[in-house]
Amino acid sequence: MALPSHIAAGAEIAVDVAVVGSGVAGLVTALDLLDRRPELTVALIDKGVSGESGSTPLAQGGLAAAVGPDDSPAMHAADTARAGDGHTDPRAVAVMAAETPARVADLRRRGAVFDTQDDGSLALAREGGQQVGRSVRAADATGAEMFRALRDAAIEKARNGSLVRLQGMVVDLPLASTPEQPVIGAWLLCDEIAGGMATPSQDAGLVLLRAQAVMLATGGCGGLYAGTTNRDEATGDALALAGRAGAALQDLEFVQFHPTGLKSADGRFQRFLLTEALRGAGAHLLDADGNRFMLDRHPDAELAPRHVVAKAILDQPGGAWLDARMIPDHQLAEEFPTVLTGARTFGFDLATEPVPVEPCEHYMIGGVVTDLHGRTSVPGLYAAGEAASSGVHGANRMAGNSLAQSCVFAHRAALDMAARLDGTHSDTDPEPPTFGRDTPVTTDGSERTDLRTAMSAGGGAIRDADGLQKLGQVIDDLRAAAYRAWGGPKPPMVRDALEVDSMLVSARAIVDSALHRTESRGAHFRTDYPDHDPVWAGRRQRVQLTG
Ligand SMILES: Cc1cc2nc3c(=O)[nH]c(=O)nc-3n(C[C@H](O)[C@H](O)[C@H](O)COP(=O)(O)OP(=O)(O)OC[C@H]3O[C@@H](n4cnc5c(N)ncnc54)[C@H](O)[C@@H]3O)c2cc1C
Repeated sequence: MALPSHIAAGAEIAVDVAVVGSGVAGLVTALDLLDRRPELTVALIDKGVSGESGSTPLAQGGLAAAVGPDDSPAMHAADTARAGDGHTDPRAVAVMAAETPARVADLRRRGAVFDTQDDGSLALAREGGQQVGRSVRAADATGAEMFRALRDAAIEKARNGSLVRLQGMVVDLPLASTPEQPVIGAWLLCDEIAGGMATPSQDAGLVLLRAQAVMLATGGCGGLYAGTTNRDEATGDALALAGRAGAALQDLEFVQFHPTGLKSADGRFQRFLLTEALRGAGAHLLDADGNRFMLDRHPDAELAPRHVVAKAILDQPGGAWLDARMIPDHQLAEEFPTVLTGARTFGFDLATEPVPVEPCEHYMIGGVVTDLHGRTSVPGLYAAGEAASSGVHGANRMAGNSLAQSCVFAHRAALDMAARLDGTHSDTDPEPPTFGRDTPVTTDGSERTDLRTAMSAGGGAIRDADGLQKLGQVIDDLRAAAYRAWGGPKPPMVRDALEVDSMLVSARAIVDSALHRTESRGAHFRTDYPDHDPVWAGRRQRVQLTG
């Protein structure tokens, strides 16, 4: 999939739908829409290199679907609600639980190969919060296999010209004043105007993608934290893009910290994940004295919901270790090749020793508010995947439910677009976004590192008002420094600066939401308000950005 040769700097191209982000949510949207409306054209845009960006290819444990003989959508829904700690939207949960089996069938039809048992039925992993094994998997590289199948299908669509793949960062969503159809399309800072899909560069050109509908499938916000399982591109762009376009955001205080990131000795920001399926296969968590501390913390011990396990690990004064030595060698090799090899590159051997673990940012639970068809509060603007918030995860996401909800709600959004798109593009010519001075005052480039360090310190798995207020001040100071460098509040037309701008907007919205929620629930744990507060039960915090 290469850039069409007719795109030139300053160009405008018209497509029917602009899909921003080419992970599972973006790919499912594009493919399922084109299956139903093959006459349409879809632009699939990504600021990263295909296959090397986003969380989808990294997903390990599996996709939760009630396909086992001892399972049912009702059980899947009940587990999801339990993990969500009284904050899930029951309608969204019921839809996801009921429709995931059909989406698994779609993935297999597109060529995804999942593990099976001798009788041909799907082999299911059991992960945290699941009453029974429910995670459809491809060893411990489920996301990579899904991505491979979906990308192959997208390449096929690209061959017949219905899909174009553009590399670059969407930096703004132009809107018309027509209330019933305000979406004009997307402003894209295209990396390689005349090239193919090479390494992103800073030599960019601005392109207007005129589209009837825009799908935001930009993934999560791990790039805002110093320790995360996410990749660099996960800078929460959907929050800034949708928020500035006037779409509502919600539940931003709920950020999931995965209990078992491999503890990093070298301070790297991206952490290697040790999938929960290891604990599903029998691995234990040990304290510094070699004791299983989860036995006293929760009836499900190591398979308790993630926020419970993460908090228990952080409570261990001497640190925590994951012990997988009881898993037979052949099972480790067959079911966990990714973690086995990955841990070895960091000098640890899961087969012979307990390995040090620590919670790290993993998943953005809140996001752009969507209904059950992926529609945001701005007509024509959709969101799906980790960028969206349908309420399906409540206050904490259960294992396997991200891939599940991404497939289900992206599919539903595709059906909604297929039914609505009538070929009418907005005829408004939008003003290009304004940028700051061409040559910003050089900074030492430490803004990202400083933001990440501050977010993990004050806005991590355990928070309080004091830490959150200090964090808010750090963000404001970083913003003031950025404005000085940019010569005003607008960043220059340089990807790094645009991303930092987006990160600061998203971080501040997350911190404000965390400050306002004066209780603990799910992934949001505050030492100054350690319990549920009935006043907050069922209350979602909607965020509307103003500038
Ligand atoms: C290590 C790891 C293991 C996981 N394991 C599991 C699991 O076993 N089961 C499960 O259910 N979930 C798992 N998850 C979570 C799950 O993988 C993700 O939530 C899901 O894949 C997100 O898909 P997505 O399509 O929303 O976004 P992504 O796959 O993250 O893709 C988003 C894309 O958008 C692009 N993008 C972002 N901003 C812009 C912009 N402004 N312009 C253009 N492009 C942009 C990015 O470059 C990226 O490629 C895991 C996550 C990680 C990190």
